[in-house]
Amino acid sequence: MSSFTDHFLRINNLQEDFQSWHFQPGMAFGSPDLWWGQRKPRPCKHEGLDLAFYLDQHGQSRSLPASANFGPLIDGIVIKIFDDFLGKSILIHHPNYDQGQIYSIFGHTNPLPHLQAGCKVSMDKSIGSIANFTPKIHGPLPHLHLSFFKLSTDLSPLSLNWSMLSNSGKVLLVDPLKMLYTKFP
Ligand SMILES: [Zn+2]
Repeated sequence: MSSFTDHFLRINNLQEDFQSWHFQPGMAFGSPDLWWGQRKPRPCKHEGLDLAFYLDQHGQSRSLPASANFGPLIDGIVIKIFDDFLGKSILIHHPNYDQGQIYSIFGHTNPLPHLQAGCKVSMDKSIGSIANFTPKIHGPLPHLHLSFFKLSTDLSPLSLNWSMLSNSGKVLLVDPLKMLYTKFP
């Protein structure tokens, strides 16, 4: 039994040091404001979680290692990979959960070179690393964005993009926090 977080810690050699994920104001699901620059309001409430920091065994906040690797939240199939403002986004379908309507998106990544639409992904294998790119002085630090959602059956997942996540009315966003720690066989 292991979770997304267990795998993340193992592949990035953080098991000894890590106590929990650490979300600064603006990083959590539904946050109204950005966590960088002048912390302006977001165009829409945060559609997921930003993974950039963790608390170590002493309760100190630490940045994730540069270009940290990660695996999928749960097993699934890659639907598509598309550009975002810091790297690439990976949309994954999780057909074995909730009548096949569950999806996740990782944003701001550098996917493994062979990863493409149709690839099966499993929790015990990496799919990419966090994109090591900051656009300008007041841009965010490199971080991994994660959205988790249920998609209405009358919308093709292939047509999904970032603005539709909040505005289409076809996407039921869920806070992924619990899933980060949920253990699967
Ligand atoms: Zn985000």
